Amino acid sequence: MEIMERLQKVRKSGLTFAVEGGSQRLRDAINKNVTEEDLLNTCRIAFEGGWNSVKLYYMLGLPTETDEDIIGIAEMANQVLHCWRTYAKNKNRGVKITVSTSCFIPKPHSPFQWEAQISIEEYLRRVNLLRSSIVARNVTYNWHDAETSLIEAVLSKGDRRVADAIEEVWRQGGRLDAWTDYFSFERWMRAFEKCGVDPAFYANREIPPDSVLPWDHIDVGVRKEHLLHEREMCYRSELSPDCRKQCSACGAARLLKGGRCDG
Ligand code: SF4
Repeated sequence: MEIMERLQKVRKSGLTFAVEGGSQRLRDAINKNVTEEDLLNTCRIAFEGGWNSVKLYYMLGLPTETDEDIIGIAEMANQVLHCWRTYAKNKNRGVKITVSTSCFIPKPHSPFQWEAQISIEEYLRRVNLLRSSIVARNVTYNWHDAETSLIEAVLSKGDRRVADAIEEVWRQGGRLDAWTDYFSFERWMRAFEKCGVDPAFYANREIPPDSVLPWDHIDVGVRKEHLLHEREMCYRSELSPDCRKQCSACGAARLLKGGRCDG
């Protein structure tokens, strides 16, 4: 509440919550330490404090995600709406609940570095499932486009062969591609084809854990065994302990002065 009051003094914009996963099981699997209770409590405080705009952000395609988890996103949005109906001070202004999703992009040096990104077709199937599950009028659903996420996954998991394609995009006029106005999916696909890069090979293929990864020569401290262990915990939907309270010796400390993390 204190932070919200301070925010209010500057600009009363909407509040955004990065919930990431539509069920507690999935949030535990990815170590997202947010419960439905946390979210609803915060929304209650916001609605009591006069806020009437809430954005809920999720990812689709997280490892272990099921259709049930996706439907859970719509159910959560309904709960937030119910919360507004119960606690909002001024209901005349109405409420705006926005659900946003983007496609999960596996990242190097994370427990999901071996994972495949779901295909564009599968992402759109999940988007449609969510879209048809959101029925309340006050809930708007926006989704990040699938093409950009595919390119991001290729860049994320690419090796040095992808460098030629990046250069080719630049030669074909690609600039400031993070801006939708400038982004051209076709230009990327043309460049991939010209350079012999198959985007699905990088984005949509699960890498066997014993493979040499393109970024293996970069030592960020955390041991591969630790990442694999965290990945296994994800598959079992188990939360990892907060390492500020219980160190699981990930390996990062050895790069720090004195060889230890002081939290
Ligand atoms: S406390 Fe440091 S060494 Fe231990 S798990 Fe956390 S980051 Fe790794």
